[in-house]
Amino acid sequence: MPLHPVASGLEARILHQAEAARDEIAAFCGELIRIPTVNPPGENYRDCAAFFGGRLAAAGFEVTFDDPPAETCPPGSAAYPRQNVIGRLESPVQDGGRRLHLNGHLDVVPPGAGWTTDPFAGEVRDGSVWGRGASDMKGGIAASFFAAEVLRRAGARLGGTLEISGTADEETGGHAGVAWLAESGQIARDTDAVIIPEPFGSHRVCVGHRGVYWFRVVADGEVAHGSMPFLGRNAITDLAPLLEEIRTEWVPELAARRTAVPVIPDGARSATINVNSIRGGQAGAGTESPQVPDRAELVADRRFLPEEGLEAVRAEVARRVADCAGQEPGRRYRIEELLAVEPVQTPPGSLATEAVRYGVRGALGVEVEEVASPGTYDHKHFARIAGVPDCVAYGPGILELAHRPDEHCPVDELVRSTGALALAAAAVLGAS
Ligand SMILES: [Zn+2]
Repeated sequence: MPLHPVASGLEARILHQAEAARDEIAAFCGELIRIPTVNPPGENYRDCAAFFGGRLAAAGFEVTFDDPPAETCPPGSAAYPRQNVIGRLESPVQDGGRRLHLNGHLDVVPPGAGWTTDPFAGEVRDGSVWGRGASDMKGGIAASFFAAEVLRRAGARLGGTLEISGTADEETGGHAGVAWLAESGQIARDTDAVIIPEPFGSHRVCVGHRGVYWFRVVADGEVAHGSMPFLGRNAITDLAPLLEEIRTEWVPELAARRTAVPVIPDGARSATINVNSIRGGQAGAGTESPQVPDRAELVADRRFLPEEGLEAVRAEVARRVADCAGQEPGRRYRIEELLAVEPVQTPPGSLATEAVRYGVRGALGVEVEEVASPGTYDHKHFARIAGVPDCVAYGPGILELAHRPDEHCPVDELVRSTGALALAAAAVLGAS
């Protein structure tokens, strides 16, 4: 699928408008940060969607607000209504032309401790916008909106349909967000390309992610009085050998498995496992009674490589857990599967990848670096549910600052990404 080259005069006007909008882009990012869409639990989605939708409508987009059904939302979220917003700029041409979709998630993770600045002030200082979501990914939403805006200000007439969406719950799986929009047909199957402005940096395009296998291992013991532990079976000490085996055997073995896919940072080119949590005994603060605990559990997050495959990973986990249980009579483990996501890869030479390559060349004057993500994001829902495999992530920010204290996004990053996204959109849709 060939790109539509952008005439040099129009390209210069687009890049000039991106530079001229520098302060507006930063201010828009700051305004989004000041609506704290913290998830979990999922606060202020409607305020954020209303603000973003209002700006899209003012820029000429036809705007739809979508309230996802309760069954797509996390349990107990009635007090935290989810909302998605989609803006559509219909093609002015007869045959419709192509359809390009830019998608950003509205939610941010909780701020956590360690900030030296107010995480929800959205302050512009020292050449950056500061706050939770500056990089992941309110900066990306600002860049996608201003990509459309600078095309308009540059006088570009698009030869296709441009859609921009802001969606819920990416940070917790995206079921009420992109997955629901795809299931309900609100992401058109004839979409030609999707760009998600996640914060990989203005010089990088992300063409896929590793797989995820989340599981819980429960050790079953036998309750007894703590003064006579020999009458019961202690589930916590039964779980300990498995924890130790993960640390001393699984971790180094997985680190030695490397993928040919260019996952960043380098450590994530290996398979990994993280023990997310352990629980056992009587939960909560306060006085404990003397008990031999009959239940202990760990939750582990296994990230796997395309070369491994989900079935092999599932079988390997089952075998290793069973082997560890079998080392001592009476030791019993159960596995509960929590989440399984296959890796995704954008087809080589896809329209979205080539459009971003074109945009980065024009806006930054460099060749884009192709990378893959250590973690999963909404790409999978576009590829698997909406049936649009031609999807990449490209957006402003500093990946290493995502979910960390003092998150910020350099304004230069916002301007460069806005210019590159505008050129990419023009090259996909055609612009005169
Ligand atoms: Zn993100």
